[in-house]
Amino acid sequence: MHKNFIDGTWLAGAQVSRNINPSDTRDLVGEYAQADAAQTRLAIAAAEAAFAGWSLSTPQQRFDLLDAVGSEILGRRSELGDLLAREEGKTLPEATGEVVRAGNIFKFFAGEALRPGGEALPSVRPGVGVEITREPLGVVGIITPWNFPMAIPAWKIAPALAYGNCVVFKPAELVPGSAWALAEILSRAGLPAGVFNLVMGRGADVGATLLEDGRVGAVSFTGSAATGRKVAAACVARMAKFQLEMGGKNPMVVLDDADLDVAVNCAVNSGYFSTGQRCTASSRLIVTEGIHDRFVAAMVERLKSLRVDDARAAGADIGPVVDQRQLDQDLEYVAIARAEGARLAYGGEALARGLAGNPGFYMNPALIVDTTPGMRINQEEVFGPVVSVLRARDYGEALALANDTPFGLAAGIATTSLKHAAHFKRHVQAGMAMVNLPTAGVDYHVPFGGRKGSSYGAREQGRYAAEFYTSVKTAYTQA
Ligand code: NAD
Repeated sequence: MHKNFIDGTWLAGAQVSRNINPSDTRDLVGEYAQADAAQTRLAIAAAEAAFAGWSLSTPQQRFDLLDAVGSEILGRRSELGDLLAREEGKTLPEATGEVVRAGNIFKFFAGEALRPGGEALPSVRPGVGVEITREPLGVVGIITPWNFPMAIPAWKIAPALAYGNCVVFKPAELVPGSAWALAEILSRAGLPAGVFNLVMGRGADVGATLLEDGRVGAVSFTGSAATGRKVAAACVARMAKFQLEMGGKNPMVVLDDADLDVAVNCAVNSGYFSTGQRCTASSRLIVTEGIHDRFVAAMVERLKSLRVDDARAAGADIGPVVDQRQLDQDLEYVAIARAEGARLAYGGEALARGLAGNPGFYMNPALIVDTTPGMRINQEEVFGPVVSVLRARDYGEALALANDTPFGLAAGIATTSLKHAAHFKRHVQAGMAMVNLPTAGVDYHVPFGGRKGSSYGAREQGRYAAEFYTSVKTAYTQA
């Protein structure tokens, strides 16, 4: 049984959750202790008590710790990738890639511990010096979703610790195994007790306690827009700092002049890999008239060649969706789109068993055509292997359609026109813009985040993470 890590000690909880492999529901991944509100408060108290000491740790100490964590993650990439694929359902190459990303993130923020920023400058008053420094916030609550169970926790925990904060980490209910493995590595890294705490459990009690406890100075949240609103309301009510990364309805524009192979590769990679369960998935393909029919035909051919299978089977292109509830939701969106008048060009049905014969949550990737902008399939995040195609007259209409959504996370364009690419990068309403690249591929050392309903607050990742995990102090000294 995997326990919670609180104040340097592994603690059992009142309840246990059993974690099932979505590729094969006969496979029990593990059993995980569930913390309640009282245990969460213990973790918060431990983090608060540890802060005074940890905030005085030297940059070198923090560098060494985070660098060692990164090295261990990278060294164990195969084993951790296998665990991640087994519990979340993304294919083994994708899962291993995510583990590598997590390791690299720890190494990146190890370096950032040495250069937190700040400056010294003369005052406008004679004889006065001004120093601007960045200070840690105290206890940071970290709440994460299930779809990137290693990388997202890494890109929150690593900067939080690098800049001298203490952490209470609450992973998503569906992926405690990856979170526990990460916590186990951190538990041996030499952090003082209480600096890092893992509390597995339900959003409604563990998560809600983190939001409401006045000792938690900041909350970093990634997840759905509905939960994000609750995080915002609770944090505003007690003036806690918070950042939200939420959903997307990311467009991929394909222009007449696009290289067809590039366009199909971008659309398939971003739309269907990781079973479409990425906040940056290209779930809306906006295609201009001259290439529309050729593009749809090429997409259907590519989809026919993809293998939906056990996430850990060699040669699997697409694994299962994460659980029955998500599968039901994906199928329901296909049905809604058809009821609203759209046509299914490919897939869209549940597969009783993967090609390996396992009982799991498999679905044939869906391509939905003849859609109109107002249809729910073009406005609401599905979060599965369900992609819609919109027809546009020209670039101008394609850009307008790309921006016609409440979200604004990532947006892509496939084109050979420098003029259109430059215009798109400038005018698309998204936090990340990709030209001839999948919307779902991002670097780990540069800012990640969106606009409109996709994000709120400071950017994550790269040096911009300091904006969230530190507070700026301006000190004046009369010489
Ligand atoms: P979710 O909102 O259901 O859960 C996210 C986390 O919030 C979980 O740990 C959950 O336990 C917790 N939670 C739930 N209720 C809570 C409450 N009342 N108080 C505090 N915490 C609570 O999201 P999910 O289904 O795990 O993840 C999928 C969503 O995440 C999608 O919308 C996806 O787009 C989004 N996502 C966004 C990004 C991004 O960076 N923008 C990245 C990955 C996923």
